[in-house]
Amino acid sequence: MNNPLETPIEYLKGVGPARGELLRKELGIHKYADLLHLFPNRYIDRTRYYKINELQNSNAEVQVVGKVINIKTVEQKRGKRLVAKFVDDTGEIELVWFQGQKWIRENLKVNVPYVIFGKCTSFNGVFNMAHPETELLTEHEQSLRSAMQPIYPSTEKLTQRGITNKVMNKMVQQLFVETQAKFGEVLPPTLLQELQLIPKNAALFNIHFPKSNDLLAKAQFRLKFEELFFIQLQLITKNLIRKHKIKGHPFNSVGNYFNDFYQNHLPFELTNAQKRVIKEIRNDMGHPAQMNRLLQGDVGSGKTIVAFMSMLLALDNGFQACLMAPTEILANQHYAGLSELAEPMGINVKILTGSTKTAERKVIHEALENGSLHIIIGTHALLEDKVQFKNLGLAIIDEQHRFGVEQRSKLWRKNEIPPHVLVMTATPIPRTLAMSLYGDLDVSVIDELPPGRKPIKTVHRFDSNRLKVWAFLKEEIAKGRQVYIVYPLIEESDKMDYKDLMDGYESISRDFPLPQYSVSIVHGRMKPADKDSEMERFAAGKTNIMVATTVIEVGVNVPNASVMVIESAERFGLSQLHQLRGRVGRGAEQSYCILMTSHKLSNDSKTRMETMVRTNDGFEIAEVDLKLRGPGDIMGKQQSGVLNLQIADLVKDRDILSLARHHAIKLLKEDAPLSKPEHAALKHAFIEMSKKKSIWNYIS
Ligand code: ADP
Ligand code: MG
Repeated sequence: MNNPLETPIEYLKGVGPARGELLRKELGIHKYADLLHLFPNRYIDRTRYYKINELQNSNAEVQVVGKVINIKTVEQKRGKRLVAKFVDDTGEIELVWFQGQKWIRENLKVNVPYVIFGKCTSFNGVFNMAHPETELLTEHEQSLRSAMQPIYPSTEKLTQRGITNKVMNKMVQQLFVETQAKFGEVLPPTLLQELQLIPKNAALFNIHFPKSNDLLAKAQFRLKFEELFFIQLQLITKNLIRKHKIKGHPFNSVGNYFNDFYQNHLPFELTNAQKRVIKEIRNDMGHPAQMNRLLQGDVGSGKTIVAFMSMLLALDNGFQACLMAPTEILANQHYAGLSELAEPMGINVKILTGSTKTAERKVIHEALENGSLHIIIGTHALLEDKVQFKNLGLAIIDEQHRFGVEQRSKLWRKNEIPPHVLVMTATPIPRTLAMSLYGDLDVSVIDELPPGRKPIKTVHRFDSNRLKVWAFLKEEIAKGRQVYIVYPLIEESDKMDYKDLMDGYESISRDFPLPQYSVSIVHGRMKPADKDSEMERFAAGKTNIMVATTVIEVGVNVPNASVMVIESAERFGLSQLHQLRGRVGRGAEQSYCILMTSHKLSNDSKTRMETMVRTNDGFEIAEVDLKLRGPGDIMGKQQSGVLNLQIADLVKDRDILSLARHHAIKLLKEDAPLSKPEHAALKHAFIEMSKKKSIWNYIS
């Protein structure tokens, strides 16, 4: 049997080829199903009736019961208008038409009760309503039409070409007539019952023609749940399939390296969060399926040691491991940290970056190929074709958002059986996004900082208070601390930003003069070698102040730096501010972050400053960021495709999302192949949806 919802939209009575074309182009409506799923943006409440003496000169659309007592045509300079006097027991208003006057004149009844609906404006002390909707009171009372009027998404072109909201409404009504409103249930009965969801038919009816506020709310809940539930089914199924299909090396043994390190060389006690995460990773890698795990942990939460211990597991099982970082500075830092840990245990670690000399490069290539090199750390240079591993068992990627998906899969193709993949990020991803976008990835979270850290104190200061801020910096420097002052340089090519930076540097150099003070500067236009040597001077404590652009955002570690001043802080996004702040608070001293802005701040900027001052918690900040910017902006356009949701909203409907995820997991645990009879409809819908809308390959 043909599914009537697959019928092309132009066949709907009242549409035809011309309107069909318009609907396709403007709203992407190709067939009946698309129109059925074009949900209203909002609803106008027509449950309230106004008396004429209650009318106000406002934007609101109102509805009034009364009678027309006379109609006349008024000649004016250009054309004429039709004016009707409309009264109730409290007063009178004028109804005005400029178009369709003939029809109105012939059809509008005098001295018969009507319900009119429209926007009122007052002119010369008399209210008038232009082009009101009119309906006889008797019809109004009989009609099954809901009190809540749906307002559909529209475009300028659509309205211009006469597809008004009323016409849209008619089309949807016609669709319900032609399909006899039979839309099969897809959710299993037990789920409907457990969550008290209204049936699909009722939900679709009430989303378009709500009979009451209550039913509208139930319809919305049901449809949002369904939408999110199917996405979760897809993501979780994908994860299950990967675990079955994509082979991985099982790291069965926890051997000497891991145990020796744990017992004899661990430089500090692991936090509980670190222990938990290592266990999760160990468990994953113990199975003959590829691990694909995201490790989230705020700056300073101690991801490096987790990475290192995961590498030891690879080594214990006779495999090599690599760690790829987005910048040379960061790769160097990882190299320094990891070789310190590895050295006492006789593990061979090397670094490979763009500036590795050719001779050294050759040695590394060879050692990787013959297996004598156990751990390699590097930048993109690791992705070159010349880099071949004997047996890469684990690839760790730091700061994942800087590498594209393409690049990452390049690492895998180097082996027949792909290595386990651990992606580390300090950019907290809000739970809701993690669940929807990364729902197919396993996620580990280090949600605890190592003991003894003092939370960074953050303040917001206006430019006019700069003298006081400078005085504070001098106090801190006198105590032996160091200071970052960061300028926005959004585009490296931006001349104004660059000038601000240089001007800033000059005035700081004047205010903190030699020989008492010394000031470093690092920015993107410097040669890498110069950048590195300036960084090193600052890291070694030879300079007091580091003036920089966001090049220092990622990973730089100078524990003695205790103050972060961010200039024009209103120009930074929340996650960037948080990353920048994470450069301080790495030592034992109390650290500070000072957000400098002008007095003129937008509401969003104010919220960003307040959030930074209020909390150090990266996840909380990420949630605010998500609210301010929306998911599309945060994840980038290419990944946000999956977020083209019809009705649910990832920010507002996070509770429904959790619920949907919970039930999707529960259902797949019970019946992963969806082969039970009560899941037949669900399975069918699921297969149909997977055919159309592939949310595969967003991440792994
Ligand atoms: P991030 O997660 O930002 O990469 P790091 O791994 O660089 O953090 O760790 C930050 C600092 O905290 C390092 O100096 C590290 O040695 C230290 N550290 C990590 N874990 C612990 C712990 N459990 N106890 C004490 N210090 C720790
Ligand atoms: Mg790190």
